[in-house]
Amino acid sequence: MLTSWVRAMMRQYELVERVKAYDPHADEALLNRAYVYAMQMHGQQKRASGDPYISHPLEVAAILADLKLDDATIASALLHDTIEDTSATRADIDKLFGEEIGSLVDGLTKIAKLDLVTRKAEQAENFRKLLIAITSDVRVLLVKLADRLHNMRTLEHVRPEKRKRIAEETMDIYAPLAGRMGMQWLREEMEDLSFRTLNPEAYGILVKRLGTLRRSNKGLIGEIKSALKEELTKSKIKAEVISREKKPYSIWRKMERKQISLEQLSDIYGFRVIVKKPGDCYAVLGTVHTRWRMVPGRFKDYISTPKQNDYQSIHTTVVGPRHQRVELQIRTERMDSVAEYGIAAHALYKDSTNGNGRDHGQKKSLALTEESNAYRWLRRLVDMLLEGDNPEEFLEHTKLELFHDQVFCFTPKGLLIALAQGATPIDFAYAVHTDVGNSCVGCKINGRTMPLMTELKNGDEVEILTSKSQVPPAAWERIVVTGKARSAIRRANKEALRVQYGKLGREILTRAFDRVGKSYRKSTIERILPRLSQNTVDDVLTAVGRGELPSADVLQAAFPDIPRPEPPKRRVVKRNDEGWFGLSKAIGLKFRMPGTGNRKGNKGSEGIPIKGLRSSLPVKFTEHGGAVPGDRIVGIMTPGEGITIYPIHSEALSAFDDQPERWIDVRWDIDESNTDRFPAQILVTGINEPGTLAQIAQTIGESGGNIHNVKMQHETEDYTTMLIDLEVWDLTHLNEIISGLRARSVVSTVKRAHE
Ligand code: MN
Repeated sequence: MLTSWVRAMMRQYELVERVKAYDPHADEALLNRAYVYAMQMHGQQKRASGDPYISHPLEVAAILADLKLDDATIASALLHDTIEDTSATRADIDKLFGEEIGSLVDGLTKIAKLDLVTRKAEQAENFRKLLIAITSDVRVLLVKLADRLHNMRTLEHVRPEKRKRIAEETMDIYAPLAGRMGMQWLREEMEDLSFRTLNPEAYGILVKRLGTLRRSNKGLIGEIKSALKEELTKSKIKAEVISREKKPYSIWRKMERKQISLEQLSDIYGFRVIVKKPGDCYAVLGTVHTRWRMVPGRFKDYISTPKQNDYQSIHTTVVGPRHQRVELQIRTERMDSVAEYGIAAHALYKDSTNGNGRDHGQKKSLALTEESNAYRWLRRLVDMLLEGDNPEEFLEHTKLELFHDQVFCFTPKGLLIALAQGATPIDFAYAVHTDVGNSCVGCKINGRTMPLMTELKNGDEVEILTSKSQVPPAAWERIVVTGKARSAIRRANKEALRVQYGKLGREILTRAFDRVGKSYRKSTIERILPRLSQNTVDDVLTAVGRGELPSADVLQAAFPDIPRPEPPKRRVVKRNDEGWFGLSKAIGLKFRMPGTGNRKGNKGSEGIPIKGLRSSLPVKFTEHGGAVPGDRIVGIMTPGEGITIYPIHSEALSAFDDQPERWIDVRWDIDESNTDRFPAQILVTGINEPGTLAQIAQTIGESGGNIHNVKMQHETEDYTTMLIDLEVWDLTHLNEIISGLRARSVVSTVKRAHE
């Protein structure tokens, strides 16, 4: 215990020395105060390893000192877990260390709160905090990366499930982020540590085989190195040659990507030639290519065309002294520094070019407001996210997986709304508020009027236009992707339909009451609720409107003395002599001899009665539109099922064109006395406004049709097409209904379905 404290104390002393070594003006007192405060606040807290907690912030600070970062960053690193894990507050930090360090530590606390695996609903808010943190000061991210690196280095002390989660998160988010920030060594170390945790078997095998390879290649590296140096000396180029073995993870990735074995991998060893001036890079290239044959397709000049993260270098592969492929990177010291330290290197170089005349009271700030090269890309990333230029790229590269299945959009007031991928403005509206969703009639995306089914993209600003008279169309249910929107639409529709049916029911009852010289009163209905087995007057009206409760029953219940009106004197049943069941009683079925007659010219003369089959073959009407007396019809036999009656115009019949044996000639065998109803389907396109459905239902009801079902089929902003299942007496009756509908101003077209 004592020894660990002593060790920690020693490290603090070392840390200050290291910072002073690259920045003589660093505020030593600040660093010491930050250290003492952090140590006091963390008190007896322990790391999972059993070390005193302070060892962690101290190591994080040491990593950042290696990056030669400013004293405010180092102090923030020492303090980075105080707000999150101790009783310290933002105000405390502000008071003791100033607002700059206060805001850095606060930014780190916010990122720490980013709970990456749970509670999706909170992610939007957290994600924004992360963005703000990135935007306000890149040092927050540098400390965060150092923090994560140290946690990865000490991961073996953490319990296994948590270990795996942290490693995955590092692999998916932090390592790519380090890479994007241009810090290759950090990325590589993070990847390697994650790989070791996530795939220990593969890691173990690779380490072992690399050892074997190293022994068998003994001397090769030195040989290549001296051959290179010798050639460069001959050409009078001052250069440093560095060799390095690739990390197991980058080897693994390459093996996976190229589907090759370790032995086939040529570039386990890499060589780097570091020179003073950019011009020297090309001189080195010339020398190397003159001496050794280059491998085609491997040459890349990132000096004339730097990578997006400012990486500059020449890459080439040559066939080396032992006829082995040798991978070379050629770059200047500065380029090397940028490649390894990225953003941090820019800070370093900026400082050295500015000279050492830094005003001691004025803190160096890496805030992104500065228009330096170093932050341009980071700024751009933030812009991409906020402006929706190409946000996928950011998400792809940093693989913020948890955000991947979501889109983040803004309200005009800047509120961030997280939605499932594929969400529409309708989903957005419901996410803002159910009332906004229900009254939504249109939208503007990034200031432009757009269709409501537009798929939203990251960073879209969405303005919802509303109207109080709006009822969400049922078809929206199929457009939306969020559960909240879907259930709200369903609810609103049920309610709207109920209201419409209620109105219709009231209308029907009013007329029915009129007919017997009574006037409709709510109180009358209330009185007879128990007799009708209904709970409320609304229920009664809806049931009547739906056709579930005949108005005659209501009249009967209300005025038992009034004789029940006779059913309309339309037609009286005349049973077929042969005693058909159900629907078939009205149809005379006749066989058509296979191969004779045809579908369009069915005269029935060549048909024969199908005696003997009647009792065993059930007869039904097609589900595709049905058939009514007056329609020319045909029967289709389906083994095991029976006979299905189609109107001759049905498009579904084409499916049986090549099976003449299944066709049966049938004809209607009914007369005027028939009161049976027959199924028909019509397609009605009506204006998309409240009350349209009620008018349609009313028209059909008034003409004596029975509605069985209404299905919304297609919808545009102005029109809804619905498929209505109804029952009518015959074709004349159906045509009356169709004409009645066509006469309605809210109806634009009516036709029979499946024609
Ligand atoms: Mn930490």
